[in-house]
Amino acid sequence: MGAERAAGAVGAAPSQPAYDVALRADATGSHWTGRETVTFGNLSARPLREVYVRLWGNGTDGCGTPQTPSPVRISRVTGGVQGASSVRCSAVRIVLPAPLPPGGRATVGFDVSITVPDRLHRFGRDGAHRYLGNALPVLAVRDAGGWHLDPDVGRGESYYTLASDFLVALDHPAALKVPATGTTTTRPGAHGRTVTTSVARRVRDFAWAAGPFRSGVATSPGGVTVRSYWTDDTPDAWVASARAEAVRAIDDLGDRFGRYPYGEVDAVVSPRFAPIGSMEFPGLVLVALDETASGMIHELAHQWWYGIVGNDEYASPWLDESFATYSNDLLIGDHGASCAQDVVWEDDTEAVTNSMDYWAAYGPGWSRLVYFNGACVLHDLERVLGGPAMAAMLKRYARDHWYGVSTTAEFQQAAQAATPTDLTPFWREHRIRTGTAP
Ligand SMILES: [Zn+2]
Repeated sequence: MGAERAAGAVGAAPSQPAYDVALRADATGSHWTGRETVTFGNLSARPLREVYVRLWGNGTDGCGTPQTPSPVRISRVTGGVQGASSVRCSAVRIVLPAPLPPGGRATVGFDVSITVPDRLHRFGRDGAHRYLGNALPVLAVRDAGGWHLDPDVGRGESYYTLASDFLVALDHPAALKVPATGTTTTRPGAHGRTVTTSVARRVRDFAWAAGPFRSGVATSPGGVTVRSYWTDDTPDAWVASARAEAVRAIDDLGDRFGRYPYGEVDAVVSPRFAPIGSMEFPGLVLVALDETASGMIHELAHQWWYGIVGNDEYASPWLDESFATYSNDLLIGDHGASCAQDVVWEDDTEAVTNSMDYWAAYGPGWSRLVYFNGACVLHDLERVLGGPAMAAMLKRYARDHWYGVSTTAEFQQAAQAATPTDLTPFWREHRIRTGTAP
C-alpha cells in the first residue's frame, strides 16, 4: 500500500536495498560469521560513486583495541573497493568500480564477523541470552543533505535507513531459540543445529536474539502472529499480561494508523532489561517488564513511527519518540488533559524538534522534552483539531509516508491541512521548529 508514495525518500539512495545474509553462530550464539550481499538501486538524480556500510554495533566500543577489536567487522568486499573506516569504526566506505547512474542497480558483498559484547545491552549479553540489535551492517543514506554519517551518541537512536528487503539465514545450535525480524521458518541443520530463515520486506533494519528462551505464539483477532519469548525467570503472570497487551496493541495501533503490514511480530520480554529499558526493531521488540508496567505499547507503536513511517532519527528524534509516546497514551486512554501545566522550558534553545546533536550534549532534557513535552504537543494539537480530525490526520499522514520517510515540515503540512486554524502560532508556542522557522 502506497509503497511508491515515499515522498521524503525521493532522491534518496542507495534505493530499495535488498539484503541477502547467511550467518553461522558458535556454540553459544556469541560469535556469528558469514556473508552479506546487498543489491541496491539509484533513484536519485545524481550518480552514486560509493556507498557506506554502517556498523552500528561498534557504536559503544568504536575501533576497539589491539587486544579487543571492534565487535563488528567486514572484509573481503566484492562489487567495490573497501575504503577507510570512519565515525569511530561505525562506517565503512565502499567505492563502486564505476559511478552508478540514476536508474541503475548494483551489488556489493562482504564477509561479516559479529562478536556480541559482554554487557547488558540491545547488542549484548544477559546470562546465556544474546541480543543482536543494530548488529547487522546496513547501508547509510544519501539524500538532498548528502551522506548521513552521524555518530552513535549513546542515547536514543541515530539511525536513518530506507525501507529494505532482507533474506537472512541464521545457522545456530538447535538448543537456542532465535526470535528475529520478519517471518521466520526453521529447519534442521547439520549435527544438532537449526537454520532459522527470516524474510522481511520493507523494513529498515534486521535484529535477532539467541538463547534458551521459553516461547509461545498467539494470533491477534486482526490476524497478526505474535510470538512471545521470555527468560525463564520472568513470572508467568507477567508473560501472560505482556502477551495479551501485545495482541491487543498490534490490532489497535493498526486500526488507528493502518494495518500492521508484516504479518508477524516477536516480543522478547524480560525483567532483566530493566537497567537498559526497552527497545524497538522492525518486527522485534525487546521489552523490560516489572510488576506494574511495560514498554510494550510504546515499542510496538514504533513499528509505525520510525518503522513504517520512517524518519531521520538523528535529525528528528521527536518524529518517532514523541509519536510512540502519544500513541501509547491513546491506547491507555490518557489524553494528556493537563500535560501543558507540566511542560517546562529551561531556556530558548530547548525544543522538542532538536536533533541528537543537541541531546548528545544535553542529556538531562532528552526524556523530558522529547517524550513528555513532545507527546504533550500532540495532545494539544488534538485539542486544536478535535479528536476525530486528529485521528483522521494521523491515519492519512501514515498512509502518505507508508514505507517512506517523513520530516517535521511534512508533519506540519499534514496537520495544517486538517484544520482551518492557522497553526503557525501553535508551532511557535510548542517549539516545533524546522530549519527555517524561528
Ligand atoms: Zn521509544
